[in-house]
Amino acid sequence: MLDKVVIANRGEIALRILRACRELGIRTVAVHSTVDRDLKHVRLADETVCIGPPPAAESYLNMPALISAAEVTDAVAIHPGYGFLSENADFAERVEQSGFIFIGPQPDTIRLMGDKVSAIKAMKDAGVPCVPGSDGPLGDDDQETLRLARGIGYPIIVKAAGGGGGRGMRVVHGEAALLTTIDLTRSEANAAFGNPVVYMEKYLEHPRHVEIQVLADNHGNAIHLGERDCSMQRRHQKVLEEAPAPGITSQQRRRIGQLCVDACRRIGYRGAGTFEFLYQDDRFYFIEMNTRVQVEHPITELITGVDIVKQQLLIASGEPLGYQQKDIHITGHALECRLNAEDPTTFSPSPGTITQYHAPGGPGIRVDSHIYNGYRVPPNYDSMIGKLIAHGETREAAIARMRNALAELVIEGIKTNAPLHQRILNDARFVAGGANIHYLEKQLLGIR
Ligand code: ADP
Repeated sequence: MLDKVVIANRGEIALRILRACRELGIRTVAVHSTVDRDLKHVRLADETVCIGPPPAAESYLNMPALISAAEVTDAVAIHPGYGFLSENADFAERVEQSGFIFIGPQPDTIRLMGDKVSAIKAMKDAGVPCVPGSDGPLGDDDQETLRLARGIGYPIIVKAAGGGGGRGMRVVHGEAALLTTIDLTRSEANAAFGNPVVYMEKYLEHPRHVEIQVLADNHGNAIHLGERDCSMQRRHQKVLEEAPAPGITSQQRRRIGQLCVDACRRIGYRGAGTFEFLYQDDRFYFIEMNTRVQVEHPITELITGVDIVKQQLLIASGEPLGYQQKDIHITGHALECRLNAEDPTTFSPSPGTITQYHAPGGPGIRVDSHIYNGYRVPPNYDSMIGKLIAHGETREAAIARMRNALAELVIEGIKTNAPLHQRILNDARFVAGGANIHYLEKQLLGIR
């Protein structure tokens, strides 16, 4: 078992990782920026190291500072959480070259799946269904690009190979706008991700976002933990997730899950990971893989009983997976509401001090959050302040529990998006199940 782990992240996921380490008897090192001294996990960790000033580039993205934190504390491994350096292959490589364990896949796997063009190619080769598209980066030959686009058919989405976080994507409805949109996406991608490579995909007009959670160890074992539906999105970013996905049959789950497991074996995948698909007219289309733990992992934990973060730590310790596919059973239904410090109508960030906080509770309610009375949400990072998670025997029961939890929740001093979640949970179309990725923005919020 790992002896001591550096938690290279902040907020709720740092606390989540700390809790998993504690359960396994692993000592913890919390790293933090100067503005994050009062984070809950920093207070609870065995050791703490200040890694720099508030800007993420000088702290949570500061590779030498993170590696020296592991050196000075005699830690053996680094858990990157999500965001920040979690999908940075160079960081994973430097961690390993410095003699530490990176809790995630091998650097080459992160590199392969981190570039969406090479990821799609690898998945096609593995027999995973992908969105019809350019099958590679777009070159300089405009006539060839226009020909390719005609073959795919409009509308088309131009995507950055290095994109992430819902950025680096533009939809084109007809040939007239294609070349200028490609140029625009290319220069934006270069500025934002340092990678000008773009590709084209058929723009699916009414898909749902359905993703498969996998776990793979160092011994050739791989399993899937079923799917999550993350169709409630704003600006291509997830707002509310649920598992299982409404209407997906156990036969469909078995089939797509097995394809993902086979792909894991083929690319030598290690650790926890997610295959993201768009799902339309009963078909799955791979869009990308996340080679890390995801924000929405708890809903899968609640319906399968598998602790995904503990599994990451056990896999990194070299243990074989403690589960076979036949051990995985889905029980009930789970929902997750991402709580953001933001205005529920304008979505502008709302940092500041939390003057009153009362967490909801009761059967089937889980709160993954680092906030407390008097905690000051700094303006420097992502606005997510936690997640409300509800589990019930049925989808209806989980929705009822989540409605109660939102009604019980008190957060004062800052604005949060809790009223938006209440709106979603009381919306007839959401309650019916199976709404697509455009529903929240276009119908419920009436944007565009
Ligand atoms: P990111 O890495 O930024 O999260 P993804 O490739 O995972 O980007 O896509 C994020 C979201 O963008 C999807 O969940 C979906 O809402 C939308 N999207 C991406 N590709 C397509 C497509 N081909 N057709 C329609 N929507 C898409």
